[in-house]
Amino acid sequence: LNYQPIVNLDDEKVQGVEALLRWNHPTRGTVMPDRFIPLAEQTGLIVPIGRWVLREACTQVMRWRREHPDTSPRTIAVNLSVRQLHDPRLLEDVADALSASGLDPQCLTLEITESMLIEETDRGSRALDQLKAMKVKVAIDDFGTGYSSLSYLRRFPVDTIKIDRSFVAEMETNPTSEALVRAVVDIAKSRDVTTVAEGGENAEQKPKLAS
Ligand code: MN
Repeated sequence: LNYQPIVNLDDEKVQGVEALLRWNHPTRGTVMPDRFIPLAEQTGLIVPIGRWVLREACTQVMRWRREHPDTSPRTIAVNLSVRQLHDPRLLEDVADALSASGLDPQCLTLEITESMLIEETDRGSRALDQLKAMKVKVAIDDFGTGYSSLSYLRRFPVDTIKIDRSFVAEMETNPTSEALVRAVVDIAKSRDVTTVAEGGENAEQKPKLAS
């Protein structure tokens, strides 16, 4: 697992991290997830892999807290696949990861994609409701690249919207991207939803993202 920092723009501190899976292959080196996640999805291996990721990510945050109590990130975000969302053991897996690590459920964010909300199934939406009942946070990942339907923001109370990196990267050169980013930040703010800009690269982006 690699950990990507999520920085709070108010105080510029790392407030959380996102756990990102890489495969350290003996001969191919670091294999990126776009090369192996689709296969893991197809074969169903994503479920046991995802279970391991959840537990390892929660454990790592608690390890950091013990070792670096003053500077440790507070929250951890873990990506969830559609297979996991529909897996009957998901709730159990999340509860196990939290109890084994001792992490507070409010410090765990599960990231789901827009398409997972669109393909709303009974099991999927029930799982999301149950996660919310456990006080786990839910984020929409890569917002803007899928259907970006505003109706699911109404239907389902997400805690965080992660604005896709392509909009963030284009903000400086494309006024439309900048306007879209602002609009999403404003909507989120009015609903008490947190926004995360993916792939922030430089200081010039900061005033455009701060609310
Ligand atoms: Mn993500």
